[in-house]
Amino acid sequence: MKRIGLLTSGGDAPGMNAAIRAVVRSGIYFGMEVYGIERGYAGLIEDKLIPMEMRSVSNIVQFGGTKLRTARCMEMLTEEGQKKAVATLEKHGIEGLVVIGGDGSFRGARVLSEQYGVPTIGIPGTIDNDLEYTDYTLGFDTAVNTCLDTINKLRDTMTSHERVSVVEVMGRHCGDIALYSGIASGAEIIVVPEVAVNMEEIVSSINRSRANGKHSNIIVIAEGVMSAEQFAKQLQSLTTYSVRPTCIGHVQRGGSPMMADRMLAAQFGNKAVRLLNDGIGNRAVGIKDNKIIDMDIIEAVSMKKVFNYELYETLKMISM
Ligand code: ATP
Repeated sequence: MKRIGLLTSGGDAPGMNAAIRAVVRSGIYFGMEVYGIERGYAGLIEDKLIPMEMRSVSNIVQFGGTKLRTARCMEMLTEEGQKKAVATLEKHGIEGLVVIGGDGSFRGARVLSEQYGVPTIGIPGTIDNDLEYTDYTLGFDTAVNTCLDTINKLRDTMTSHERVSVVEVMGRHCGDIALYSGIASGAEIIVVPEVAVNMEEIVSSINRSRANGKHSNIIVIAEGVMSAEQFAKQLQSLTTYSVRPTCIGHVQRGGSPMMADRMLAAQFGNKAVRLLNDGIGNRAVGIKDNKIIDMDIIEAVSMKKVFNYELYETLKMISM
């Protein structure tokens, strides 16, 4: 393969820039020409391509966001949009494509490979960690660390005032950010879309912890369940302890990627290009049991995310 394209799509995630760098540098290493496509599938449809050189990706490994910018593109859902996207690739003689994004972006990649025969490699770039085929997605670790920083600060003030803090983190369908940031911050309770809310049990757990000498409580809630504000209102009507909501919000998407995400970015990006260089397409790269893997992209997007109930139970046993 002599010429490949690269785009970032869907929600951005820390580590996308590091992955762009790894794809561009690996491509050049193998003697390929690499074209960056701006604003995801929108840029592909609108022919917004930029040649990427060795130095185009200098000094970006440490930054959040994506140098190529990203977009959600409704036109890519239509046959007309998809044909325009393929026409752009043909016009520039691009033989393979790397797509960095979440499950929606992978569905776009699946269409390109399955229906139009474009060899495409998916790199899982999303803070949500909502793809079953990989243990971790790019950006998840940094997003959780951002949550931890905020929760640590909330614990200080909540303890001083003996309050209950309800902290809303991202995750519409997947509770992993809440689960990991809850466990790692020592939160007492997590509320996730995968487990039905039991307000009675939550109130009992708060009362138990206070009887055991605790001066504050942290409840981490995933946005997909309800907002921190709504939850705090409900809880306040059931307890005499003072409840305060906090929504961490979009800061979770930004910031300098942590070591774990930079390492994933380097390895995912390099693996994607090595696959294309071997003439292999239609794969999604990931990490399983600490090993970089690749699997059929259609199979990867079809797998249903399984919630880690064992970790959820662990939190209950150690945070009381
Ligand atoms: P995140 O997990 O951060 O939300 P994502 O990649 O899942 O990221 P989406 O908005 O779901 O984000 O998808 C990104 C883009 O992928 C869409 O705007 C659209 O252009 C394309 N896409 C999504 N689903 C399909 C599909 N079924 N067919 C073709 N293209 C799709």
